[in-house]
Amino acid sequence: MDVSELIDGLNDKQREAVAAPLQNMLVLAGAGSGKTRVLVHRIAWLMQVEHASPYSIFAVTFTNKAAKEMRSRVEETIKSSVGGMWIGTFHGLSHRILRAHYRDANLPEAFQILDTDDQVRMIRRLLKAMNIDEKKWPAKQIAWYISARKDEGTRPKDIQAYDINEQLLLKVYTAYQEACDRAGLVDFAEILLRCFELLQQHPTLLRHYQQRFRYMLVDEFQDTNSIQYQWLKLLAGTENTMMIVGDDDQSIYGWRGAKIENITRFVGDFNAETIRLEQNYRSTATILKASNALIENNAERMGKSLWTEGSEGEPISVYAAFNELDESRFVASKIRSWLNAGNKLDHSAILYRNNAQSRVLEEALLQEGLKYRIYGGMRFFERQEIKDALAYLRLISNRQDDAAFERVINTPARGIGDKTLSHIRDCARNESMPLWYAAKAIVEEKHLSGRAATAISRFVEVVEKLDDSITELELAEQAQLTIEQSGLLAMYQAEKGEKGRARVENLEELISACGQYDLPIDEDFSSPLQGFLAYTSLESGEGQADEHEDAVQMMTLHSAKGLEFPLVFMVGVEEGMFPSQQSHEESGRLEEERRLCYVGMTRAMEKLYISHAESRRLYGQEKHHSPSRFLRELPDDCVEEIRIKTQVSRPAASGRFSPSVTHAVFEDSGYTLGQRVLHAKFGAGTVLNYEGSGAQSRIQVNFDDVGSKWLVTAYARLQAM
Ligand code: ATP
Ligand code: MG
Repeated sequence: MDVSELIDGLNDKQREAVAAPLQNMLVLAGAGSGKTRVLVHRIAWLMQVEHASPYSIFAVTFTNKAAKEMRSRVEETIKSSVGGMWIGTFHGLSHRILRAHYRDANLPEAFQILDTDDQVRMIRRLLKAMNIDEKKWPAKQIAWYISARKDEGTRPKDIQAYDINEQLLLKVYTAYQEACDRAGLVDFAEILLRCFELLQQHPTLLRHYQQRFRYMLVDEFQDTNSIQYQWLKLLAGTENTMMIVGDDDQSIYGWRGAKIENITRFVGDFNAETIRLEQNYRSTATILKASNALIENNAERMGKSLWTEGSEGEPISVYAAFNELDESRFVASKIRSWLNAGNKLDHSAILYRNNAQSRVLEEALLQEGLKYRIYGGMRFFERQEIKDALAYLRLISNRQDDAAFERVINTPARGIGDKTLSHIRDCARNESMPLWYAAKAIVEEKHLSGRAATAISRFVEVVEKLDDSITELELAEQAQLTIEQSGLLAMYQAEKGEKGRARVENLEELISACGQYDLPIDEDFSSPLQGFLAYTSLESGEGQADEHEDAVQMMTLHSAKGLEFPLVFMVGVEEGMFPSQQSHEESGRLEEERRLCYVGMTRAMEKLYISHAESRRLYGQEKHHSPSRFLRELPDDCVEEIRIKTQVSRPAASGRFSPSVTHAVFEDSGYTLGQRVLHAKFGAGTVLNYEGSGAQSRIQVNFDDVGSKWLVTAYARLQAM
């Protein structure tokens, strides 16, 4: 093919990066400037012009979805297949290396990934066995501590525990690691650390990969943590070249150990050339101007400017909702109009700060009859019934999997009580053996009451019989038989109501997911089941259920990184939500929240809506929030405020996000501007504004103690003073 095709459709700076000589390079640029596009074209360039074989290319992306997209974009560009190219996430690629060299990594062949839930459950069990009070030492926090140590590359032996607290954490970390090793389990952080150590401790292996991966490319580099950086550095060796692209303003994983400094560190360590891109191709001029203005409020920046030739576009609409229900209804109705105007749902996205915010939005979309797809969050493979079925499959393929054993030993209920279980655990600990074998030993040695022993034998028999009978079957049949014979199906069928039905449907969905699963041809799994189990742990949630159906995209701001949509809603933009409460307490966190806001806004191509609610019920609590400070940081001329039914254009004199007072007396309301009123909870205040009528009406009062609030007039029960 013609080389010019590779660099057509690129601007000068992009071309400079794509066609650069073989050297280490940093492409530093703001959102939507074509960094990912440069990476794709660079890969094509390497193959076409530098005659690089696909085998010599190693590309790291942020999600599996991004990896898939990148592969197909390269194939489109060079019009041939790139099967041997390694492209994936840090976790996916490390996992692949570990699988190929499980022995050198001291892992059983069928080692399994321990997800966050199982990890916490395992720690809880250890705490109990160690007589540590979980109220004082929540398992979740300990899991967090352990992952953070692993992300830094720190093993228990490297830790000097100076005080008793740290000594305790260290003790649990050590016990946890031993338990994982015994059971052949790796948690997410372990995948990377274990792979790093594998390469570090096996020079021949390292040399093999270094000689293979001549060209390394990394997207979203601003979010690499310590171990990822060291891992890349190790693989690069002294001879390979690496191109990294990133944006310091989009670093949003500091809370999980990502280090923006890795960008400057890379330039020094790798003696890299820096190229900056400054033209934005994604968003309207208005969205770009507002995002630039927002991020300028951060002090710690490498500094960049972005411009666009694009049209000005519509102003950003800010909607002040009464509460989260009102907010959701607003979003759903706007999406409905967008669909009716002939647009695709796929092109719209709702972004939120926390997963828990999705539920009300889902309900509103359902009511409006709009399909949606959630990325992350309560993913399909994370649902209870699915995890139960997967645990049986995991135990069938690896008896050492203690987490799977724990999950299903008494699911469905077999009359195996806590006492029997702790007996099994004690035995496993004393003999340093997996729970499965401990359970068998106990039965054989007749250490248990008749009933408990029979129950365990029955469980053992179910698993062993399944193992015997499914090996010859297709994957979908394996799943089906397991779901039936384990008793899970009967158990969930007996569960009454909508929930039970949904669970049975989900189990059926799992069987069809198995049917659709293709074992990757270029990866060496010992069986399709092995491949499928790895897939469910690594790729769950992406492109779930109905992949081809047109649907609204819903996700957290974090998982929206790198993506773009014509229509974007950012919801819950309130103080205490976004920026989050914690960000007030830790230094640097507020700037990270602002970067997250920048990431969110810059996902929008054509139209951006931002909403906030005065009161919000979340995690069972009603909270009152004021609009986020980020809203005040947007330039006035980029924003329009929307109020219920009436669109109020702001009078020049009044400050933004304060009311626009249009009437001195509010007709029919019985209130007048400036009137003093008393509220049972908020105390005394002054009436500022009023809108709507009847049950829909709202009144704004500036309370002496708590400031200005909009209240639903019918519920406010104000007393004239
Ligand atoms: P982010 O920081 O959000 O990851 P990015 O810098 O990676 O953004 P891309 O996703 O590569 O940006 O590009 C943003 C959009 O601009 C894409 O739709 C891309 O196709 C388009 N684009 C990039 N460069 C050009 C160009 N030279 N001409 C036309 N469109 C372009
Ligand atoms: Mg990108």
